Amino acid sequence: MTDDRQFDVVIIGGGPAGLAAGVYAARGRRKTALLEKGVIGGQIALTELVENYPGIKSINGFDLAQEMLGQAESYGMETAYVEVSGIEQAGDLWTVHTSDGDYTTKAIIMTAGADYDKLGIPGEEKLTGKGVSYCATCDAAFFKDMETIVVGGGDAALEEAIFTTRYATKVTLVHRRDELRGSAILQERAFANDKIDFKWNTIVTEVLGDEQVTGVKLKDVKTGEESEMATSAVFIFIGQHPNTDFMADLVPMDKGRHVIVDEWMKTPQPGLFVAGDVRQNSARQVASSVGDGVTAAIGAEHYIADKFPESELHSAEPAEATATA
Ligand code: NAP
Repeated sequence: MTDDRQFDVVIIGGGPAGLAAGVYAARGRRKTALLEKGVIGGQIALTELVENYPGIKSINGFDLAQEMLGQAESYGMETAYVEVSGIEQAGDLWTVHTSDGDYTTKAIIMTAGADYDKLGIPGEEKLTGKGVSYCATCDAAFFKDMETIVVGGGDAALEEAIFTTRYATKVTLVHRRDELRGSAILQERAFANDKIDFKWNTIVTEVLGDEQVTGVKLKDVKTGEESEMATSAVFIFIGQHPNTDFMADLVPMDKGRHVIVDEWMKTPQPGLFVAGDVRQNSARQVASSVGDGVTAAIGAEHYIADKFPESELHSAEPAEATATA
């Protein structure tokens, strides 16, 4: 990262949407910075294998993110590992407040993603990517002809349980109540699917396994009875929260706090674009997030070209090598 903190485009979040935006913005010769608070790749950095990114039959999620990062940096994108605490309009420009000082930019592409809600039980973190998953669309195929469990009773749990039956021999949906929260149509489909069993009034208290998930500990919340169940995978769908706290009151959001954008990923705030899982109605896939990031970068380019016609193009020299987190 250079000392000069003035950019054409600042991207907040280094998941697929942010990285794709970085490739386009930097290759478009806009001075571009990507700010990431954790690990480059976001949720895909935790994914063992990505097998549904068109053109690449199979790749480790961390490696795919590193490829995207290297590509964006080869066009001059700069990367900083800082946490963003707020954004603020200052005249025609934006100020981005971070844990390491302020950045000034003409446009912001906010791709800070969403974090899945976690159960917070022993074994969950250790076995994430080793049988514990928050994305059945991504990982169900790895558990072909095996038995799996799904935790949750909302639309996501039902949809993903139904999807998982394409591969698993049996799926047990573990729900903490005796009534599902999900929509009637998904409930009907789940009840009609003879591969899905329901375990009512039950919570998972521990995920078991050393290198790979082998089972779970369960507790009946009505009787207090504890038991163990063998399983190869635990898919957890108990909700998710987009990382939009620092944008509160700045842009319209839906009740789940996802940002409402137009088809260019544009918010009503001039120069502020939002892409990927953090926006309303995201398909929450690597490929769709990449598409969002590209769209936002093109939207930002149109905005900068219109608003700052005198703006000089940046030389697309590779930035100095950055350490990977
Ligand atoms: P959700 O509707 O909030 O459901 C979360 C589920 O997880 C609930 O059944 C909840 O139980 C359970 N849960 C929460 N915390 C738990 C914990 N600590 N331990 C065990 N269980 C816990 O979340 P979602 O399913 O992710 O859906 C989010 C939004 O996206 C919803 O508006 C949904 O309609 C929408 N969505 C729609 C579709 C679709 O239409 N195809 C697909 C996916 C999501 P309780 O019921 O007891 O609270």
